[in-house]
Amino acid sequence: MALTCQRCLGPVDVSLTVDRWFRFVADEATASAEDDDCEEDVLALEPRPSLYELLEDELLMELPLVPMHETCPEPVIMRVADSAVAAADDEPERKNPFAELARLKK
Ligand SMILES: [Zn+2]
Repeated sequence: MALTCQRCLGPVDVSLTVDRWFRFVADEATASAEDDDCEEDVLALEPRPSLYELLEDELLMELPLVPMHETCPEPVIMRVADSAVAAADDEPERKNPFAELARLKK
């Protein structure tokens, strides 16, 4: 996935891996009855699940909350330390990745 690095705001390619088991059963009722006591996901074949949507959901869940380069290609200018950044201060506040983390911990 091509995402935006939350440290340097440059493009970052993130590879996603999903390893998951699904078991298909006849209908929704069977699915909800069996879903609690097994590890794999139980899916009803009626209505027919869409493989595309299934993949999309799985990949969305795999997306990193805060995509970041392991090492950013450009050194990141720190707001506090660099006066060149002051000019950019008029920009709306960028989302703080740590605030997002803190929100999740609640
Ligand atoms: Zn970066």
